[in-house]
Amino acid sequence: MGIGIDNYDIALDLGHTFSNLDFVSHAHSDHTNRAKNGREILASAETKALIETRKRIRVNLSEVPANIELLDSGHILGSKQLYIDSPEFGYSVVYTGDYQMQKSPTASNIKVNEADVAILDSTYPDPGIVFDEREETIDTIQYYVRNKMDKGIVIFGAYSLGKAQELVSIMNGIGITPAVSKGISALNGVYSEFGIKLGYASAYDPDSNFEQLLKENFVGVVETQRLRELAGRLSAVYNKRVYTAVATGWAKCFKFDTDVQFALSDHADFGQALDYLQMANPKLVYAVGKESRMMAKSLEKHGYNAAPLEADLRLGTIKC
Ligand SMILES: [Zn+2]
Repeated sequence: MGIGIDNYDIALDLGHTFSNLDFVSHAHSDHTNRAKNGREILASAETKALIETRKRIRVNLSEVPANIELLDSGHILGSKQLYIDSPEFGYSVVYTGDYQMQKSPTASNIKVNEADVAILDSTYPDPGIVFDEREETIDTIQYYVRNKMDKGIVIFGAYSLGKAQELVSIMNGIGITPAVSKGISALNGVYSEFGIKLGYASAYDPDSNFEQLLKENFVGVVETQRLRELAGRLSAVYNKRVYTAVATGWAKCFKFDTDVQFALSDHADFGQALDYLQMANPKLVYAVGKESRMMAKSLEKHGYNAAPLEADLRLGTIKC
């Protein structure tokens, strides 16, 4: 998807081939698939560093044009919304990218500006999916870990970027240094560079007490797809009970093949989407993403002038 405004054709999360400004809201892979070595992107310095670490490429940052602002979106380190105040058309537009209204210990809090047009992420369009208060979810995770560590090893499966760092921070909150995989360790390093200090150990960090850590019951954080295989291996090597857990918003929707699942999300649920819109106060809402039609329908029921965004948006054609 793209937005045409003034002299710019802006690609939203690189989802548009004909552009002269490429906005990347954050470094999750579904938003950076088209990031190539040497490409110039409009993004935060954190997003640049995370993309470079994950994809082993170099990208350059575009200057932020005068009528554009990048606003924190609360999702992961460096995640931004695109806010455009168009002097030519006399109205403002915001593209949220992935966002959440709850406070995360490893991301900056969201900033919401008033906007005439909101292009809203649609990850959770179902009003029936309601995330608990983050503090409650964190307490539950910490209680579970304390309890199970007396009996064995606890391994979490999580997205390597965002959720993994939050889990490390949650473990640090109860004095636990988790062991992490190589990929997660590399991304933790970027978080630390940008001031989010995380205590963790891995086989790839020579200064960490990794070997020592494995002598006792420990907590591990690995990529979700490696969870089962790794749990089997650890159980065989250490001859201990290995408890498996996932932490994802999808825990509200699906049953995972693990001992326990925690609905820890870095996205807005539908209630948070309504909170966002109440603050942004848009006249028009365009829903984006796979669930954009359902999101638009749900929003219409709440009185919003909403539609799925299914083609590029030319600002000159909008009537606010
Ligand atoms: Zn994301």
